[in-house]
Amino acid sequence: MSLDKLKRHVCEANKALERNGLITLTWGNVSGIDRSKNLVVIKPSGVTYADLKPSDMVVLDLSSGKKIGGKYRPSSDAPTHLILYRAFPDIGGITHAHSIYASMFAQACISIPALGTTHADIFHGEVPITRPLTKREVEDGYEVNTGKVIVERFKKLDTVAVPGVLVANHGPFTWGQSAQDSVHNSIALEAVAKMAYGTLIINPKVKPLPDYLLDKHFFRKHGPNAYYGQKKNQ
Ligand code: 13P
Repeated sequence: MSLDKLKRHVCEANKALERNGLITLTWGNVSGIDRSKNLVVIKPSGVTYADLKPSDMVVLDLSSGKKIGGKYRPSSDAPTHLILYRAFPDIGGITHAHSIYASMFAQACISIPALGTTHADIFHGEVPITRPLTKREVEDGYEVNTGKVIVERFKKLDTVAVPGVLVANHGPFTWGQSAQDSVHNSIALEAVAKMAYGTLIINPKVKPLPDYLLDKHFFRKHGPNAYYGQKKNQ
């Protein structure tokens, strides 16, 4: 994909995030990566979604983190995105939002349990919460350390099976094969968080759904035996 096309995709993904009700003010950002060129394209910091144009996107070198294109400063969360792209070689896009229900779980510092099939369609297990950052981690290299606690949390987790995380006291990050795909997972995460919130109010003692139902729903949509939807070339 050309760099211009990636800028268009990332710009459109950012606008889709707002269109889907996941954004308050300018609290969120989407990026995409071209692995062949080692380049990350990300939203500029603090720019209103309605005003965003593909040419406003900021281009960063994945290895050095240096800005190599664009007139604006990159998202303040760009160092977190870069840490995730370096640690998770299979991901192609990242979304961060302060969407209300997912952020409520993040602020409560609890993971979102897999309570039903809606959750299992996207996440093969709970959406995990990171540990809180220490005072030192916040004061020195905050955004880099935010990325590092996510990577630490995923030591024993698979980023395909669980395409998102809650950062303690902060909010959600999701990822996917592309910028659009990471937004899709952010939309799903917010719906799942909202359902979990309501379910836990109706029945605070509710248990996660059984593994056989979790597996059925996840693998119906993901992996070699998936049969949900239409074949790619149909
Ligand atoms: P940026 O506008 O710098 O991307 O920041 C948005 C945000 O949500 C910070 O967490």
